Amino acid sequence: MVKTIRHFIDGASTQDEPPAWGDVHDPALGSVSGRVALGDAAAVDQAVKVAVDAQAAWQEESLGTRQQVMLQLIRLIERDRDELAGLITSEHGKTIADARAEVNAGLDVAKFAAGIPALLKGEYSENVTRGVDTYSIRQPLGVVAGITPFNFPVMVPMWMFPLAVACGNAFVLKPSEKVPSAANRLAALAIEAGLPPGVLNVLHGNASAVDALLAHPNVSAVSFVGSTPVARHIYETAAKNGKRVQALGGAKNHLVVLPDADLDAAANALISAAYGSAGERCMAISVAVAVGDIGDALRDRLVARIGTLTTADGRQPDSDMGPLVTADHLRRVTGYVQAGADAGADVVVDGRDIQVSGRDNGFFLAPTLLDHVRPDMSVYTDEIFGPVLVMLRVRTLDEAVALINGGEYGNGVSIFTRDGVAARRFQHAIQVGMVGLNVPIPVPVPYFPFGGWKRSLFGDSGQYGEDGIRFYTRRKVVTARWADTGSRVDMRFPA
Ligand code: NAD
Repeated sequence: MVKTIRHFIDGASTQDEPPAWGDVHDPALGSVSGRVALGDAAAVDQAVKVAVDAQAAWQEESLGTRQQVMLQLIRLIERDRDELAGLITSEHGKTIADARAEVNAGLDVAKFAAGIPALLKGEYSENVTRGVDTYSIRQPLGVVAGITPFNFPVMVPMWMFPLAVACGNAFVLKPSEKVPSAANRLAALAIEAGLPPGVLNVLHGNASAVDALLAHPNVSAVSFVGSTPVARHIYETAAKNGKRVQALGGAKNHLVVLPDADLDAAANALISAAYGSAGERCMAISVAVAVGDIGDALRDRLVARIGTLTTADGRQPDSDMGPLVTADHLRRVTGYVQAGADAGADVVVDGRDIQVSGRDNGFFLAPTLLDHVRPDMSVYTDEIFGPVLVMLRVRTLDEAVALINGGEYGNGVSIFTRDGVAARRFQHAIQVGMVGLNVPIPVPVPYFPFGGWKRSLFGDSGQYGEDGIRFYTRRKVVTARWADTGSRVDMRFPA
């Protein structure tokens, strides 16, 4: 049965025939499982109009009401966690356990957003001059658009819309057309939680829908998460059109292992962070940097652990790693493995000939490990976004830092060591936005901001935390005299 996924606007699925449909795949089966509406400029206009009207009333609701909606949304998502996880796995391919963890990570941001009464508190200075007070208030922007990638169909939308609507905005979400179903389910749950229709809308589509959002005069701000070339396009176009914009891009994350590290802990971290979700995470570790003479010992540990992993349909309980998202993406990733081999890298574990029983057409690639990779090889320079870990060997910590700082991305990085002095030196010198010391994936909790440096983030604002509140509000500063202190003409400025 091929299902149909339509836009969700004004609290319900739209019924009009869209100008085009896109195929949605079940990546484990390798078959088409659904068709998704591909919106055009007219559909974007409809969604934005509805959002403008709904936002006018929503911004007048009390902070307590907005908090109550958020608390109820949290309960409903917890109730339907398994259903959401199932939707994620059926379109993305990751394991059910990983999909549940993704829903939990989204919930963490909603829990942060439920603190909105405290988060929106302004500043107040009494008697800035006799009888005059100055204070600041934070107000919503209006209609905000969110454009999200395929790899986290629930979590990345939830980085955005809970905070955006809690701040009093209306939101138009344009999810990845590869994984469209979970977004509609989230929007329906928001309605059930008491969010007025039209405050959260889902507009499906591809680049043309995005470009219509970027051009729409009533979209005040754009939050984007996806690949670096698209992030740059979004940043430049939205800014040219006078919109506030944050655009998070791709990554190439390193994990540095110093000679004094607990090698077993480092190997466990590398396996989890490189192959979890088949490497389709912006915070995946895709480069292992072995410092000093530990390269062979680390490699042996990695090979042993790879041998214990099961690559299978993510719905299968013993699956450690599911398929890649599409056949095109599988071809791209295996192409990189071949390019690495051709350039002289040592393919220590080759996952390309995997057979998954009963899933002959699935988009599977088993964990793959390349050693003796050089910095000029495309397997090192490019974001592969698959279960491919490359290993480089350097002599010193300084060499590792120089290698990483020479790259174009700066999303996440980790170091494994027992030496606090070395760790502190690393933390200070490394040009990366999110740093882990003896942790595999240094994703910040929602009360700290999430965001990389360099070509991993265009703009000056990360997702959630204090950055999220700032991004989704405008500050107004009021100077008020409510005291009977007399007045006179005074030509000085400031008086
Ligand atoms: P993508 O850039 O191809 O697509 C992201 C979104 O942009 C989708 O909604 C898509 O429809 C839209 N889009 C695609 N091409 C477009 C174009 N030319 N013009 C306008 N819109 C366009 O990314 P993806 O393949 O879905 O996701 C994987 C990428 O996302 C990886 O590079 C990954 O590192 C990155 N990512 C980054 C973060 C982060 O926090 N930095 C988080 C998750 C994913």
